[in-house]
Amino acid sequence: MSVICKKCKKIEPMITLSATFIPQGDNTYLCPDCYIEMRVCSICGKNPNNLEQANSKYVQIEDEKFICEECCLKTVSCIVCGSKPTNLSAADSQYKRIGGDIVCINCAKEYLMKKSKNIIISSTNNIENKRIDKYLGFNSVEIVIGTGIFSEVTSEMSDIFGMRSTIFEKKLSEAKNMAELLLKEKAINLGANAVIGVDLDYTEFTGNRVGLILSGTFVKFEG
Ligand SMILES: [Zn+2]
Ligand SMILES: [Zn+2]
Ligand SMILES: [Zn+2]
Repeated sequence: MSVICKKCKKIEPMITLSATFIPQGDNTYLCPDCYIEMRVCSICGKNPNNLEQANSKYVQIEDEKFICEECCLKTVSCIVCGSKPTNLSAADSQYKRIGGDIVCINCAKEYLMKKSKNIIISSTNNIENKRIDKYLGFNSVEIVIGTGIFSEVTSEMSDIFGMRSTIFEKKLSEAKNMAELLLKEKAINLGANAVIGVDLDYTEFTGNRVGLILSGTFVKFEG
């Protein structure tokens, strides 16, 4: 078995302990040279000097688009509270981009709620008196409710959805609201102003976990 660099087509004969090709998550590989070469900072144009730098000082901001730590720290600040990250991993984990704006995770929820106020979520396949201009695809968000809440409830529940438990219902409705908000975030990032044909599904996982899946078709309508 051998792997091939998707860019320069160089072949690494075997996946061994000393393998140097880097898996890209989609069953493709990059050789270290191409890996480094692909990480060009989209702001200052610099490449990392080595693999270690490529991994620790560069972060992906879009498909095949990267930014170096220096430029990242210069440009990232929360549009709401003005806070700035102190390093790259903080920038990556504590800041997010919502429709082109950068917000910190502390401000994200409130910001998202404000920004998504006009986004329509509808279970039907059209919106009254509105003409759909663009279909932006079908997509879904998923929220998993963990064991913690169920241990509060009961271990003998056989049909959790038939169960009348205020704790559970409260958690479920919080999770539903959260899923709706995430769906709206996706809409903003896709440039959609409505999600139609929205459907809520549940999946049961082992270990008393329940997944909420909210899916729909993202559309853009005029006016
Ligand atoms: Zn290569
Ligand atoms: Zn840079
Ligand atoms: Zn903030």
